[in-house]
Amino acid sequence: MGRLIRSDAVAAAVGAMASDALDAARARAAADDTAGAADAAPSAETAKPAQSSAPSASSQPDDAPEPADISEPDTFRPAASAPAASEPAASETAASRPAASEPAASETAASQPATSEPATSEPATSEPPTPAAQAAPVVTFGPAKGGRGRGPQSARMPDRASGAAASANAARAAAEPGPNTVFDVIIIGAGPAGLSAGLNLVRARRRVLMLDSNRPRHSATLKSHGFLTRDGVSPLELRKLGREEFEHYPEASFHQSLVTGIDRVEEETGELFVVHSKGIRGSGDRTSTARTVLIATGLTETLPALPSIRAYYGTDMHSCTECDGYEKSDAPLALIGETSDLAERALLLSQWSNDLIVFTNGVADLSEHDESALDARGIGVERRPIADIEGDRTGMTGVSLADGTVILRSGGFVRPVWTTALDYEALLGVATDDDKLLVVDWLGRTSVPGVFAAGDSTPPGAQQLVVAAGAGAKVASAINRHLIGLL
Ligand SMILES: Cc1cc2nc3c(=O)[nH]c(=O)nc-3n(C[C@H](O)[C@H](O)[C@H](O)COP(=O)(O)OP(=O)(O)OC[C@H]3O[C@@H](n4cnc5c(N)ncnc54)[C@H](O)[C@@H]3O)c2cc1C
Repeated sequence: MGRLIRSDAVAAAVGAMASDALDAARARAAADDTAGAADAAPSAETAKPAQSSAPSASSQPDDAPEPADISEPDTFRPAASAPAASEPAASETAASRPAASEPAASETAASQPATSEPATSEPATSEPPTPAAQAAPVVTFGPAKGGRGRGPQSARMPDRASGAAASANAARAAAEPGPNTVFDVIIIGAGPAGLSAGLNLVRARRRVLMLDSNRPRHSATLKSHGFLTRDGVSPLELRKLGREEFEHYPEASFHQSLVTGIDRVEEETGELFVVHSKGIRGSGDRTSTARTVLIATGLTETLPALPSIRAYYGTDMHSCTECDGYEKSDAPLALIGETSDLAERALLLSQWSNDLIVFTNGVADLSEHDESALDARGIGVERRPIADIEGDRTGMTGVSLADGTVILRSGGFVRPVWTTALDYEALLGVATDDDKLLVVDWLGRTSVPGVFAAGDSTPPGAQQLVVAAGAGAKVASAINRHLIGLL
Protein backbone atom coordinates (compact mmCIF):
# COMPACT_ATOMS: atom_id res chain seq x y z
CA MET A 1 0.00 0.00 0.00
CA GLY A 2 1.43 3.37 -0.88
CA ARG A 3 2.04 5.94 1.77
CA LEU A 4 -0.97 8.06 2.57
CA ILE A 5 0.29 11.56 3.20
CA ARG A 6 -1.52 14.59 4.50
CA SER A 7 -0.11 17.62 2.77
CA ASP A 8 -1.64 21.07 2.82
CA ALA A 9 1.09 22.16 0.50
CA VAL A 10 -0.18 19.87 -2.15
CA ALA A 11 -3.69 21.13 -1.57
CA ALA A 12 -2.39 24.58 -2.20
CA ALA A 13 -0.81 23.32 -5.33
CA VAL A 14 -4.20 22.35 -6.67
CA GLY A 15 -5.34 25.90 -6.37
CA ALA A 16 -2.24 27.12 -8.06
CA MET A 17 -2.33 24.95 -11.10
CA ALA A 18 -1.91 27.99 -13.32
CA SER A 19 0.94 29.34 -11.27
CA ASP A 20 3.89 27.36 -12.45
CA ALA A 21 7.41 28.67 -12.43
CA LEU A 22 7.79 29.18 -16.13
CA ASP A 23 11.43 29.83 -16.61
CA ALA A 24 12.57 26.30 -15.93
CA ALA A 25 9.63 24.93 -17.84
CA ARG A 26 10.41 27.02 -20.89
CA ALA A 27 13.97 25.81 -20.83
CA ARG A 28 12.64 22.29 -20.81
CA ALA A 29 10.22 23.06 -23.60
CA ALA A 30 13.12 24.27 -25.70
CA ALA A 31 14.96 21.05 -24.98
CA ASP A 32 11.82 19.10 -25.76
CA ASP A 33 11.66 20.64 -29.15
CA THR A 34 15.06 19.33 -30.00
CA ALA A 35 14.67 16.03 -28.19
CA GLY A 36 11.23 14.98 -29.40
CA ALA A 37 11.00 11.82 -31.36
CA ALA A 38 12.41 13.09 -34.55
CA ASP A 39 14.96 10.47 -35.37
CA ALA A 40 13.65 7.76 -37.58
CA ALA A 41 13.83 4.28 -36.26
CA PRO A 42 15.62 1.87 -38.52
CA SER A 43 13.22 0.45 -41.04
CA ALA A 44 12.45 -3.20 -41.19
CA GLU A 45 13.96 -3.32 -44.62
CA THR A 46 17.31 -1.87 -43.71
CA ALA A 47 17.49 -3.63 -40.43
CA LYS A 48 16.77 -7.11 -41.68
CA PRO A 49 18.50 -9.50 -39.38
CA ALA A 50 20.75 -12.32 -40.36
CA GLN A 51 21.48 -14.82 -37.67
CA SER A 52 24.92 -16.25 -37.49
CA SER A 53 25.39 -19.96 -37.38
CA ALA A 54 25.70 -19.66 -33.63
CA PRO A 55 23.37 -16.82 -32.76
CA SER A 56 23.93 -15.17 -29.47
CA ALA A 57 20.92 -14.00 -27.57
CA SER A 58 20.87 -10.29 -27.24
CA SER A 59 18.90 -10.13 -24.09
CA GLN A 60 19.68 -7.97 -21.16
CA PRO A 61 18.30 -8.18 -17.67
CA ASP A 62 15.13 -6.25 -17.02
CA ASP A 63 16.94 -4.04 -14.59
CA ALA A 64 19.34 -2.89 -17.26
CA PRO A 65 20.29 0.64 -16.31
CA GLU A 66 19.77 2.43 -19.58
CA PRO A 67 16.73 1.70 -21.67
CA ALA A 68 16.85 3.50 -24.97
CA ASP A 69 15.31 6.74 -26.01
CA ILE A 70 12.59 5.96 -28.50
CA SER A 71 14.18 8.30 -30.96
CA GLU A 72 17.51 6.60 -30.57
CA PRO A 73 16.82 2.94 -30.10
CA ASP A 74 19.63 0.84 -28.77
CA THR A 75 19.50 -1.08 -31.96
CA PHE A 76 23.21 -0.93 -32.19
CA ARG A 77 24.20 -1.95 -28.71
CA PRO A 78 26.46 -4.98 -28.79
CA ALA A 79 24.74 -8.21 -27.91
CA ALA A 80 25.22 -9.37 -24.38
CA SER A 81 26.86 -12.71 -24.10
CA ALA A 82 24.56 -14.02 -21.40
CA PRO A 83 21.64 -15.77 -23.07
CA ALA A 84 19.05 -15.10 -20.41
CA ALA A 85 15.57 -15.32 -21.81
CA SER A 86 14.04 -12.49 -19.86
CA GLU A 87 12.56 -9.48 -21.59
CA PRO A 88 15.00 -7.23 -23.41
CA ALA A 89 15.11 -3.47 -23.38
CA ALA A 90 13.67 -1.60 -26.35
CA SER A 91 17.13 -1.67 -27.70
CA GLU A 92 17.36 -5.40 -28.00
CA THR A 93 15.05 -5.50 -30.89
CA ALA A 94 15.00 -7.78 -33.84
CA ALA A 95 16.37 -4.86 -35.74
CA SER A 96 19.34 -4.84 -33.45
CA ARG A 97 20.64 -8.20 -34.48
CA PRO A 98 23.76 -7.57 -36.49
CA ALA A 99 23.72 -8.53 -40.12
CA ALA A 100 27.01 -9.10 -41.85
CA SER A 101 26.67 -5.93 -43.86
CA GLU A 102 25.79 -3.71 -40.96
CA PRO A 103 28.42 -1.50 -39.42
CA ALA A 104 30.01 -2.60 -36.20
CA ALA A 105 27.97 -1.86 -33.12
CA SER A 106 30.40 0.62 -31.74
CA GLU A 107 30.75 2.54 -35.00
CA THR A 108 27.05 2.96 -35.44
CA ALA A 109 26.35 3.75 -31.84
CA ALA A 110 28.97 6.45 -31.96
CA SER A 111 27.39 7.96 -35.02
CA GLN A 112 23.98 8.27 -33.41
CA PRO A 113 23.36 11.71 -31.97
CA ALA A 114 22.03 11.69 -28.46
CA THR A 115 18.54 13.05 -28.66
CA SER A 116 17.26 12.38 -25.22
CA GLU A 117 16.52 15.28 -22.96
CA PRO A 118 19.57 16.73 -21.32
CA ALA A 119 19.69 16.29 -17.59
CA THR A 120 19.58 20.00 -17.06
CA SER A 121 16.31 20.32 -18.89
CA GLU A 122 14.42 18.30 -16.30
CA PRO A 123 14.39 19.84 -12.88
CA ALA A 124 14.62 17.03 -10.36
CA THR A 125 11.85 17.76 -7.94
CA SER A 126 12.28 15.24 -5.23
CA GLU A 127 9.63 16.66 -2.92
CA PRO A 128 5.97 17.40 -3.39
CA PRO A 129 5.20 21.10 -3.74
CA THR A 130 6.14 23.09 -0.65
CA PRO A 131 4.50 26.18 0.81
CA ALA A 132 7.62 28.10 -0.18
CA ALA A 133 7.18 27.02 -3.71
CA GLN A 134 3.61 28.16 -3.58
CA ALA A 135 4.48 31.52 -2.11
CA ALA A 136 5.83 32.98 -5.30
CA PRO A 137 3.46 32.02 -8.04
CA VAL A 138 4.20 33.39 -11.46
CA VAL A 139 0.81 33.76 -13.01
CA THR A 140 1.97 34.06 -16.54
CA PHE A 141 0.66 31.88 -19.23
CA GLY A 142 3.23 30.77 -21.73
CA PRO A 143 2.48 30.38 -25.36
CA ALA A 144 1.51 27.07 -26.75
CA LYS A 145 4.49 25.05 -27.83
CA GLY A 146 5.22 26.63 -31.16
CA GLY A 147 5.77 24.90 -34.43
CA ARG A 148 4.37 21.58 -33.37
CA GLY A 149 1.60 21.25 -35.85
CA ARG A 150 -1.73 22.84 -36.48
CA GLY A 151 -3.94 20.54 -34.46
CA PRO A 152 -3.51 22.18 -31.09
CA GLN A 153 -3.53 25.68 -32.53
CA SER A 154 -6.83 25.15 -34.22
CA ALA A 155 -8.16 23.38 -31.15
CA ARG A 156 -7.32 26.49 -29.16
CA MET A 157 -8.92 29.02 -31.47
CA PRO A 158 -10.50 31.83 -29.40
CA ASP A 159 -13.91 31.31 -30.94
CA ARG A 160 -14.06 27.87 -29.41
CA ALA A 161 -13.72 29.18 -25.87
CA SER A 162 -16.22 31.70 -24.70
CA GLY A 163 -16.73 33.05 -21.21
CA ALA A 164 -14.41 33.46 -18.25
CA ALA A 165 -14.38 29.82 -17.26
CA ALA A 166 -13.40 28.72 -20.71
CA SER A 167 -10.68 31.36 -20.89
CA ALA A 168 -9.23 30.33 -17.57
CA ASN A 169 -9.34 26.74 -18.64
CA ALA A 170 -7.55 27.48 -21.87
CA ALA A 171 -4.94 29.63 -20.15
CA ARG A 172 -4.25 26.95 -17.58
CA ALA A 173 -3.81 24.36 -20.26
CA ALA A 174 -1.48 26.61 -22.22
CA ALA A 175 0.84 27.29 -19.27
CA GLU A 176 4.07 25.37 -19.40
CA PRO A 177 4.35 22.85 -16.58
CA GLY A 178 6.76 23.58 -13.77
CA PRO A 179 7.92 21.72 -10.69
CA ASN A 180 4.70 22.51 -8.84
CA THR A 181 2.29 21.67 -11.57
CA VAL A 182 -0.53 19.40 -10.56
CA PHE A 183 -1.32 17.47 -13.70
CA ASP A 184 -4.80 16.29 -14.47
CA VAL A 185 -3.38 12.90 -15.38
CA ILE A 186 -0.04 11.15 -15.15
CA ILE A 187 0.13 8.32 -17.64
CA ILE A 188 2.70 5.65 -16.87
CA GLY A 189 3.71 3.91 -20.08
CA ALA A 190 3.87 5.12 -23.67
CA GLY A 191 2.78 2.03 -25.54
CA PRO A 192 -0.37 2.12 -27.68
CA ALA A 193 -2.59 2.18 -24.57
CA GLY A 194 -0.82 5.10 -22.93
CA LEU A 195 -0.27 7.07 -26.13
CA SER A 196 -3.86 6.66 -27.26
CA ALA A 197 -5.15 7.72 -23.86
CA GLY A 198 -2.74 10.64 -23.84
CA LEU A 199 -3.84 11.84 -27.26
CA ASN A 200 -7.50 11.74 -26.31
CA LEU A 201 -6.88 13.42 -22.96
CA VAL A 202 -4.90 16.35 -24.34
CA ARG A 203 -7.62 16.74 -26.93
CA ALA A 204 -9.99 16.98 -23.96
CA ARG A 205 -7.70 19.81 -22.85
CA ARG A 206 -6.35 17.86 -19.94
CA ARG A 207 -2.87 18.61 -18.68
CA VAL A 208 -1.10 15.27 -19.14
CA LEU A 209 2.34 14.05 -18.13
CA MET A 210 3.48 10.81 -19.73
CA LEU A 211 6.32 8.88 -18.11
CA ASP A 212 7.90 6.06 -20.06
CA SER A 213 10.88 3.78 -19.61
CA ASN A 214 10.97 2.83 -23.30
CA ARG A 215 10.98 -0.93 -22.92
CA PRO A 216 8.11 -1.94 -25.19
CA ARG A 217 7.62 -5.67 -25.40
CA HIS A 218 7.03 -5.84 -29.12
CA SER A 219 10.28 -4.10 -30.04
CA ALA A 220 11.61 -7.64 -30.45
CA THR A 221 9.91 -7.73 -33.81
CA LEU A 222 10.52 -5.89 -37.08
CA LYS A 223 6.94 -5.48 -38.20
CA SER A 224 3.65 -5.05 -36.40
CA HIS A 225 0.58 -6.54 -38.00
CA GLY A 226 -3.14 -6.04 -37.75
CA PHE A 227 -3.22 -2.36 -36.75
CA LEU A 228 -5.69 -0.80 -39.17
CA THR A 229 -3.93 1.55 -41.63
CA ARG A 230 -0.53 0.50 -40.20
CA ASP A 231 -0.33 -3.20 -41.08
CA GLY A 232 3.36 -4.05 -41.30
CA VAL A 233 4.67 -0.89 -39.64
CA SER A 234 7.76 -1.22 -37.47
CA PRO A 235 6.95 -1.09 -33.75
CA LEU A 236 9.37 1.77 -33.20
CA GLU A 237 7.81 3.78 -36.02
CA LEU A 238 4.36 3.25 -34.55
CA ARG A 239 5.48 4.53 -31.15
CA LYS A 240 7.29 7.45 -32.75
CA LEU A 241 4.17 8.48 -34.66
CA GLY A 242 2.07 8.13 -31.54
CA ARG A 243 4.40 10.20 -29.44
CA GLU A 244 4.59 12.93 -32.07
CA GLU A 245 0.82 13.15 -32.26
CA PHE A 246 0.56 13.37 -28.48
CA GLU A 247 3.28 15.99 -28.19
CA HIS A 248 1.71 18.19 -30.84
CA TYR A 249 -0.60 19.47 -28.15
CA PRO A 250 0.50 22.10 -25.65
CA GLU A 251 -1.20 20.22 -22.83
CA ALA A 252 1.19 17.31 -23.36
CA SER A 253 4.40 16.68 -21.42
CA PHE A 254 6.65 13.68 -21.90
CA HIS A 255 9.45 12.52 -19.67
CA GLN A 256 11.58 9.47 -20.24
CA SER A 257 11.89 7.81 -16.90
CA LEU A 258 11.14 4.67 -14.95
CA VAL A 259 8.40 5.02 -12.36
CA THR A 260 9.58 3.58 -9.08
CA GLY A 261 6.93 4.69 -6.60
CA ILE A 262 3.52 6.28 -6.18
CA ASP A 263 2.19 7.93 -3.03
CA ARG A 264 -1.43 8.71 -2.38
CA VAL A 265 -1.85 12.12 -0.79
CA GLU A 266 -5.02 12.95 1.10
CA GLU A 267 -6.29 16.46 0.45
CA GLU A 268 -9.38 18.46 1.27
CA THR A 269 -9.99 18.75 -2.44
CA GLY A 270 -9.63 15.04 -2.93
CA GLU A 271 -6.83 12.56 -3.27
CA LEU A 272 -3.71 13.37 -5.25
CA PHE A 273 -1.03 11.04 -6.52
CA VAL A 274 2.67 11.78 -6.21
CA VAL A 275 4.62 9.76 -8.75
CA HIS A 276 8.36 9.23 -8.40
CA SER A 277 10.43 8.31 -11.41
CA LYS A 278 14.06 7.70 -12.14
CA GLY A 279 15.40 9.52 -15.17
CA ILE A 280 17.08 7.55 -17.89
CA ARG A 281 19.50 8.47 -20.65
CA GLY A 282 20.15 11.95 -19.38
CA SER A 283 16.69 12.77 -18.09
CA GLY A 284 16.55 13.89 -14.49
CA ASP A 285 14.77 12.08 -11.71
CA ARG A 286 11.34 13.50 -11.26
CA THR A 287 8.54 13.68 -8.72
CA SER A 288 5.25 14.83 -10.15
CA THR A 289 1.74 15.25 -8.81
CA ALA A 290 -1.58 14.54 -10.50
CA ARG A 291 -5.24 14.24 -9.77
CA THR A 292 -5.44 10.88 -11.52
CA VAL A 293 -3.04 8.16 -12.65
CA LEU A 294 -3.33 5.88 -15.64
CA ILE A 295 -1.26 2.71 -15.55
CA ALA A 296 -0.44 1.55 -19.06
CA THR A 297 2.81 -0.27 -18.44
CA GLY A 298 2.04 -3.42 -20.38
CA LEU A 299 3.75 -6.64 -19.41
CA THR A 300 7.20 -8.00 -18.96
CA GLU A 301 7.76 -11.48 -20.32
CA THR A 302 10.04 -14.37 -19.57
CA LEU A 303 10.70 -16.96 -22.25
CA PRO A 304 11.70 -20.58 -21.59
CA ALA A 305 15.39 -20.57 -20.68
CA LEU A 306 16.83 -21.72 -24.00
CA PRO A 307 20.20 -20.18 -24.89
CA SER A 308 19.33 -18.92 -28.38
CA ILE A 309 15.60 -18.26 -28.15
CA ARG A 310 15.99 -14.49 -27.94
CA ALA A 311 18.02 -14.50 -31.15
CA TYR A 312 14.98 -15.79 -33.04
CA TYR A 313 12.25 -14.09 -31.04
CA GLY A 314 10.36 -11.62 -33.19
CA THR A 315 11.62 -12.99 -36.51
CA ASP A 316 11.22 -16.78 -36.59
CA MET A 317 9.72 -17.32 -33.15
CA HIS A 318 6.73 -15.27 -32.04
CA SER A 319 4.27 -15.24 -29.19
CA CYS A 320 1.10 -13.74 -30.69
CA THR A 321 -0.66 -16.00 -33.19
CA GLU A 322 -3.06 -13.31 -34.37
CA CYS A 323 -0.14 -10.94 -34.95
CA ASP A 324 2.27 -13.24 -36.77
CA GLY A 325 0.42 -16.43 -37.69
CA TYR A 326 -0.28 -15.31 -41.23
CA GLU A 327 3.41 -14.96 -42.06
CA LYS A 328 3.97 -18.56 -40.88
CA SER A 329 1.18 -20.07 -42.95
CA ASP A 330 1.72 -23.76 -43.76
CA ALA A 331 5.30 -23.73 -42.46
CA PRO A 332 6.71 -26.49 -40.23
CA LEU A 333 6.22 -24.90 -36.84
CA ALA A 334 7.13 -25.49 -33.21
CA LEU A 335 5.05 -24.35 -30.28
CA ILE A 336 7.27 -24.15 -27.21
CA GLY A 337 5.98 -23.53 -23.73
CA GLU A 338 5.88 -24.67 -20.16
CA THR A 339 2.38 -23.60 -19.13
CA SER A 340 -0.85 -25.58 -18.94
CA ASP A 341 -2.58 -23.75 -21.80
CA LEU A 342 -0.35 -25.13 -24.55
CA ALA A 343 -3.02 -27.36 -26.05
CA GLU A 344 -5.42 -24.46 -26.48
CA ARG A 345 -2.72 -22.36 -28.12
CA ALA A 346 -1.75 -25.23 -30.40
CA LEU A 347 -5.33 -25.70 -31.58
CA LEU A 348 -5.48 -22.00 -32.34
CA LEU A 349 -2.18 -22.11 -34.18
CA SER A 350 -3.37 -25.00 -36.34
CA GLN A 351 -5.53 -22.42 -38.12
CA TRP A 352 -2.31 -21.25 -39.80
CA SER A 353 -0.34 -24.47 -40.17
CA ASN A 354 -1.10 -28.16 -39.88
CA ASP A 355 2.59 -29.02 -39.66
CA LEU A 356 2.85 -28.31 -35.97
CA ILE A 357 4.66 -29.91 -33.04
CA VAL A 358 4.09 -28.90 -29.43
CA PHE A 359 7.28 -28.94 -27.32
CA THR A 360 6.61 -29.12 -23.58
CA ASN A 361 10.32 -28.93 -22.63
CA GLY A 362 9.51 -31.70 -20.18
CA VAL A 363 7.60 -29.17 -18.10
CA ALA A 364 4.20 -28.24 -19.54
CA ASP A 365 1.30 -30.23 -18.23
CA LEU A 366 -0.61 -31.78 -21.14
CA SER A 367 -3.41 -34.11 -20.19
CA GLU A 368 -4.32 -37.21 -22.16
CA HIS A 369 -7.46 -35.40 -23.19
CA ASP A 370 -5.38 -32.52 -24.51
CA GLU A 371 -3.09 -34.84 -26.37
CA SER A 372 -5.93 -36.69 -28.06
CA ALA A 373 -7.49 -33.36 -29.09
CA LEU A 374 -4.19 -32.36 -30.62
CA ASP A 375 -3.80 -35.71 -32.26
CA ALA A 376 -7.22 -35.34 -33.86
CA ARG A 377 -5.95 -32.16 -35.54
CA GLY A 378 -2.69 -33.83 -36.62
CA ILE A 379 -0.60 -31.90 -34.10
CA GLY A 380 2.38 -33.75 -32.64
CA VAL A 381 3.58 -33.56 -29.05
CA GLU A 382 7.23 -33.73 -27.99
CA ARG A 383 7.72 -34.05 -24.24
CA ARG A 384 11.51 -34.41 -24.09
CA PRO A 385 13.52 -31.49 -22.64
CA ILE A 386 14.83 -28.99 -25.17
CA ALA A 387 18.51 -28.07 -25.45
CA ASP A 388 18.22 -25.07 -27.77
CA ILE A 389 16.87 -23.53 -30.95
CA GLU A 390 18.98 -24.42 -33.96
CA GLY A 391 19.67 -22.09 -36.86
CA ASP A 392 22.06 -20.58 -39.33
CA ARG A 393 22.33 -17.35 -41.29
CA THR A 394 19.06 -18.03 -43.05
CA GLY A 395 17.20 -18.30 -39.76
CA MET A 396 15.82 -20.98 -37.51
CA THR A 397 16.24 -24.55 -38.74
CA GLY A 398 15.05 -26.71 -35.87
CA VAL A 399 14.71 -27.55 -32.21
CA SER A 400 17.48 -29.58 -30.60
CA LEU A 401 16.58 -31.81 -27.69
CA ALA A 402 18.69 -32.59 -24.66
CA ASP A 403 19.33 -36.12 -25.96
CA GLY A 404 20.88 -34.73 -29.16
CA THR A 405 17.90 -35.20 -31.44
CA VAL A 406 17.24 -32.30 -33.78
CA ILE A 407 13.70 -31.82 -35.04
CA LEU A 408 13.54 -29.67 -38.15
CA ARG A 409 11.32 -26.62 -37.83
CA SER A 410 11.56 -23.31 -39.69
CA GLY A 411 9.87 -21.23 -37.03
CA GLY A 412 7.14 -21.18 -34.50
CA PHE A 413 5.63 -19.70 -31.43
CA VAL A 414 6.58 -19.55 -27.79
CA ARG A 415 4.39 -19.13 -24.76
CA PRO A 416 6.09 -16.58 -22.46
CA VAL A 417 5.23 -16.12 -18.82
CA TRP A 418 3.90 -12.61 -18.30
CA THR A 419 4.06 -10.38 -15.27
CA THR A 420 3.29 -6.72 -14.68
CA ALA A 421 6.14 -4.25 -14.49
CA LEU A 422 5.42 -3.24 -10.91
CA ASP A 423 3.56 -4.80 -8.00
CA TYR A 424 0.68 -2.36 -8.13
CA GLU A 425 -1.19 -4.03 -5.32
CA ALA A 426 1.69 -3.39 -2.95
CA LEU A 427 2.36 0.03 -4.43
CA LEU A 428 -1.12 1.49 -4.58
CA GLY A 429 -3.46 -0.91 -2.90
CA VAL A 430 -5.30 -1.64 -6.14
CA ALA A 431 -6.93 -5.00 -6.63
CA THR A 432 -5.07 -7.40 -8.91
CA ASP A 433 -5.91 -10.86 -10.18
CA ASP A 434 -3.93 -14.09 -9.77
CA ASP A 435 -1.54 -12.98 -12.51
CA LYS A 436 -1.00 -9.60 -10.80
CA LEU A 437 -2.88 -7.88 -13.63
CA LEU A 438 -4.84 -4.80 -12.62
CA VAL A 439 -8.51 -5.55 -12.19
CA VAL A 440 -10.59 -2.86 -13.89
CA ASP A 441 -14.24 -2.28 -14.65
CA TRP A 442 -15.48 -1.75 -18.18
CA LEU A 443 -14.43 1.91 -18.00
CA GLY A 444 -10.87 1.12 -16.94
CA ARG A 445 -11.32 2.10 -13.28
CA THR A 446 -9.28 0.16 -10.74
CA SER A 447 -10.43 -0.44 -7.18
CA VAL A 448 -8.75 2.82 -6.09
CA PRO A 449 -10.66 5.95 -7.13
CA GLY A 450 -8.55 8.09 -9.43
CA VAL A 451 -6.34 5.20 -10.55
CA PHE A 452 -7.10 3.80 -13.99
CA ALA A 453 -5.46 1.10 -16.09
CA ALA A 454 -5.53 0.06 -19.73
CA GLY A 455 -3.80 -2.23 -22.19
CA ASP A 456 -1.86 -5.42 -21.56
CA SER A 457 -1.45 -4.71 -17.84
CA THR A 458 -5.17 -5.41 -17.39
CA PRO A 459 -6.89 -8.80 -17.79
CA PRO A 460 -6.73 -10.88 -19.87
CA GLY A 461 -3.16 -9.66 -20.38
CA ALA A 462 -1.26 -9.90 -23.63
CA GLN A 463 -3.41 -8.88 -26.56
CA GLN A 464 -2.82 -6.65 -29.57
CA LEU A 465 -1.74 -3.12 -30.38
CA VAL A 466 -5.10 -2.00 -31.65
CA VAL A 467 -6.86 -3.48 -28.63
CA ALA A 468 -4.51 -1.61 -26.30
CA ALA A 469 -4.99 1.59 -28.28
CA GLY A 470 -8.76 1.16 -28.11
CA ALA A 471 -8.61 0.61 -24.36
CA GLY A 472 -6.53 3.77 -24.09
CA ALA A 473 -9.13 5.83 -25.94
CA LYS A 474 -11.90 4.38 -23.81
CA VAL A 475 -10.18 5.00 -20.49
CA ALA A 476 -9.35 8.56 -21.57
CA SER A 477 -13.04 9.30 -21.82
CA ALA A 478 -13.61 7.80 -18.37
CA ILE A 479 -10.78 9.82 -16.83
CA ASN A 480 -12.13 13.03 -18.30
CA ARG A 481 -15.56 12.29 -16.88
CA HIS A 482 -14.08 11.39 -13.52
CA LEU A 483 -12.24 14.72 -13.40
CA ILE A 484 -15.43 16.59 -14.19
CA GLY A 485 -17.26 14.64 -11.50
CA LEU A 486 -19.53 12.73 -13.81
CA LEU A 487 -18.33 9.32 -12.64
C1 LIG B 1 7.37 -9.90 -30.06
C2 LIG B 1 6.01 -9.29 -30.07
C3 LIG B 1 5.40 -9.00 -31.26
C4 LIG B 1 4.14 -8.41 -31.29
N1 LIG B 1 3.58 -8.15 -32.48
C5 LIG B 1 2.37 -7.58 -32.53
C6 LIG B 1 1.75 -7.31 -33.78
O1 LIG B 1 2.33 -7.56 -34.85
N2 LIG B 1 0.50 -6.78 -33.77
C7 LIG B 1 -0.16 -6.48 -32.60
O2 LIG B 1 -1.27 -5.98 -32.67
N3 LIG B 1 0.41 -6.74 -31.41
C8 LIG B 1 1.65 -7.28 -31.34
N4 LIG B 1 2.21 -7.56 -30.13
C9 LIG B 1 1.45 -7.25 -28.89
C10 LIG B 1 1.54 -5.75 -28.57
O3 LIG B 1 2.87 -5.35 -28.62
C11 LIG B 1 0.94 -5.44 -27.22
O4 LIG B 1 -0.35 -5.99 -27.12
C12 LIG B 1 0.86 -3.93 -26.99
O5 LIG B 1 2.12 -3.33 -27.17
C13 LIG B 1 0.35 -3.62 -25.59
O6 LIG B 1 0.32 -2.23 -25.44
P1 LIG B 1 0.44 -1.54 -24.01
O7 LIG B 1 0.35 -0.08 -24.28
O8 LIG B 1 -0.51 -2.14 -23.06
O9 LIG B 1 1.91 -1.92 -23.47
P2 LIG B 1 3.34 -1.75 -24.13
O10 LIG B 1 3.25 -1.53 -25.59
O11 LIG B 1 4.14 -2.90 -23.67
O12 LIG B 1 3.89 -0.42 -23.49
C14 LIG B 1 4.15 -0.32 -22.11
C15 LIG B 1 5.12 0.82 -21.88
O13 LIG B 1 5.21 1.06 -20.47
C16 LIG B 1 6.55 1.33 -20.15
N5 LIG B 1 6.77 1.02 -18.73
C17 LIG B 1 6.71 -0.17 -18.12
N6 LIG B 1 6.98 -0.04 -16.81
C18 LIG B 1 7.22 1.27 -16.61
C19 LIG B 1 7.57 2.03 -15.46
N7 LIG B 1 7.70 1.48 -14.25
N8 LIG B 1 7.77 3.36 -15.61
C20 LIG B 1 7.63 3.96 -16.82
N9 LIG B 1 7.28 3.27 -17.94
C21 LIG B 1 7.08 1.95 -17.83
C22 LIG B 1 7.35 0.45 -21.09
O14 LIG B 1 8.65 0.95 -21.26
C23 LIG B 1 6.53 0.53 -22.38
O15 LIG B 1 6.98 1.57 -23.19
C24 LIG B 1 3.47 -8.13 -30.08
C25 LIG B 1 4.09 -8.42 -28.85
C26 LIG B 1 5.34 -8.99 -28.85
C27 LIG B 1 5.98 -9.30 -27.54
